Amino acid sequence: MQCTGVGEQPVLTWTITRANPVIASVIVESRMRLHPRRLFCNVAGDFYATGENPKPGESRSCWMGDCLTCHGPESQAQELLAELNSENTTTYFVRQPETEIETERACRAVQYCCVDALRYAGQNAAIIHRLGNNPAQCDYLIANDGRMVYCLDEKGELQPWAAEIRAAIGMGIDIRSVPTE
Ligand code: SF4
Repeated sequence: MQCTGVGEQPVLTWTITRANPVIASVIVESRMRLHPRRLFCNVAGDFYATGENPKPGESRSCWMGDCLTCHGPESQAQELLAELNSENTTTYFVRQPETEIETERACRAVQYCCVDALRYAGQNAAIIHRLGNNPAQCDYLIANDGRMVYCLDEKGELQPWAAEIRAAIGMGIDIRSVPTE
């Protein structure tokens, strides 16, 4: 397992790329922001699971994931997620996808989770579109102007505008656009 360095806050800059099949130019952040409830046991990388990490001074055994035991996400991406057994009941990523097929499996696992505890922190526009540009699963959303917009607050909760989008998607109605920063 690899500690992901929760709380890291490197310098913010922007880069323009042309990786998005829908929008000609996508503006991405150069830093990788880390969800404050990202489980320490996730392997480093864009796909991750959330949960309660051990507090300072606590044993590393004092942690609990938000997604547990039903085997659903594991059925979608068995090779990427920790094995569930008598010693582990928590869903978390032990490997990041390396191929298109594995990325698709990771996306299916993320979408399987019914409490939004598996997420994508990256800025690959194709993956964000695959996940529906949905704040329930993506830390970054793509605004109409092509800019990647981070949708979480410092506690890992959805920003109010992102919560509106998530609720609208859940009800199958038109969503307001992602605001630009
Ligand atoms: S997918 Fe839902 S029901 Fe299954 S373990 Fe995760 S949170 Fe629980």
